[in-house]
Amino acid sequence: MDSKKLAYNREEMLKLNLEALKSRGGVTIDDIAEIAYRQQSKYYPDVSYQLCYESVEKILTFRDVFHHIQFASEVDRLAEEKAFKGPIQDILYYDYGLFGLDEVLGLDVARLYGAIGQTNFGDIDVNKRGIVDKLNSEGKKDGVVHTLMDDIVGSIAAAASTRVAQVMNEDAAMENPGYHKVNLFEELEGKKDK
Ligand code: MG
Repeated sequence: MDSKKLAYNREEMLKLNLEALKSRGGVTIDDIAEIAYRQQSKYYPDVSYQLCYESVEKILTFRDVFHHIQFASEVDRLAEEKAFKGPIQDILYYDYGLFGLDEVLGLDVARLYGAIGQTNFGDIDVNKRGIVDKLNSEGKKDGVVHTLMDDIVGSIAAAASTRVAQVMNEDAAMENPGYHKVNLFEELEGKKDK
């Protein structure tokens, strides 16, 4: 019997992502939302935590993000179990600073939200906030590997943070008193009058 399964729906991807995050350092949606909230509340003091939470949840249903989380969590686990052969085992196990592919993977997730997403990822990566800091320091202990996961978690926070900024700006645009939603029929009527 062929038990191969390649395609997962959004609900399954969210569930499997939450399980993978939990299994690798006990990461929760709240942990990631907190970073997005802290980053955006600097610019929008009235930003709601709920919006940050929902943004993280939404990003955890994306197929690209699903592949990233599933890949990163398994690579870290295998490195922890010393299952790799060759140079890559020690490079991953000891989180070699010049490795760089962990940041490449993080940037790929952040890129879903453009240049601002990548800039926000850079901030989180350099300043090691919240759960990213925790994963990074835990990963330095012998027998614990978070080489890829700290960057993936940081990049999800950056993507969520950028989505929050976009929603806040959409809301601000709607509040503009001159705002008038363009209607195709009005447009056509206007042209007829001319
Ligand atoms: Mg890393």
